Amino acid sequence: MAENVIIIGSGPAGLTAALYTARANLNPLLLSGNEFGGQIALTNEVENYPGFPEGITGPELTELMKQQAEKFGARFETDHVSRVDLQKHPFTLETENGAHYEAKSLVIATGASPRRLGVPGEMELTGRGVSYCATCDGFFFRGKQVAVIGGGDSALQEGLFLTRFASQVHIVHRRSELRAQSVLQERARENEKINFVWDSVVQDIRGNGAVNMLNLVNVHTGAKSELPVSGVFVYIGHYPNTELFKGQLDMDDEGYLTVDERLHTKIPGVFAAGEAHDHIFKQAIVAAGFGCMAAMEVEKFLANLEFQGYPVNITNAAR
Ligand code: NAP
Repeated sequence: MAENVIIIGSGPAGLTAALYTARANLNPLLLSGNEFGGQIALTNEVENYPGFPEGITGPELTELMKQQAEKFGARFETDHVSRVDLQKHPFTLETENGAHYEAKSLVIATGASPRRLGVPGEMELTGRGVSYCATCDGFFFRGKQVAVIGGGDSALQEGLFLTRFASQVHIVHRRSELRAQSVLQERARENEKINFVWDSVVQDIRGNGAVNMLNLVNVHTGAKSELPVSGVFVYIGHYPNTELFKGQLDMDDEGYLTVDERLHTKIPGVFAAGEAHDHIFKQAIVAAGFGCMAAMEVEKFLANLEFQGYPVNITNAAR
């Protein structure tokens, strides 16, 4: 039997959609992807999610969100959706674990993934000094020199986190002005372990089995320089995880899904929430808000289906 609603993705958008649809007695199923929690689960300190004045770690926050949704009857499966067919209703989904689902409505909360530099050495040395997650890998760089690439919130926040382990953190930025919010800029400038390398981009990453050198180029003078480091943490933004929907849903040139102000895609019953469509705010709290909005629209969509005589299975799971 078709599920009322399947939510794809387990970041704040998906988890909030699960909470709201569960509390509406819609018995939602959330397919979490292979790793639970999305990008925020890779963040060590979340200081700007309301309700946690002392801050909270990303994994703790997402675990609490999951527990809250489960309390009202949301179901979770650790599985990665590999194929969707949105051309006929109910929609069909296939997963990497070989499961097959049908869904009357869908919330796409697949989020975004870190962008890569695309320079020689990056792929070969990923996991051998090149990383996209300071929370996961910072510990391995105790007493070592590392570089962080980027000048946004992620670069500074994770660069600051890395100062707990590394002897020095070089923040390599392609301009001489940071994009990051001022509170992070101040903290980074005051931290003695942080050194800024301005107006520079990475030409290649070198190392024999493990990173030992970055080759940099000054974007104004063309001057080349070497930076001896053991780790390179890349924080140059993200791209939306929407490949799965190419050819079926509208998206912009960067792959962000096109939705209206109520988060409807062009296919009735298919909604998007979070960084799969939001290329502006990209904050956990905003993603959670979008998850709530999508869930409320799912409710209306299913109520309308029911009105048309299509069975919608309401549960009594909420308590
Ligand atoms: P971002 O804001 O898009 O910043 C990416 C940075 O990488 C920019 O400084 C950009 O330089 C640089 N960059 C992009 N492509 C590059 C390339 N090919 N080579 C070298 N540098 C490159 O990405 P983000 O820092 O991951 O943040 C994403 C979103 O999450 C933002 O909206 C941010 O506010 C949010 N966020 C918030 C927090 C928080 O609230 N504490 C923490 C993390 C992230 P330019 O500046 O020159 O463009």
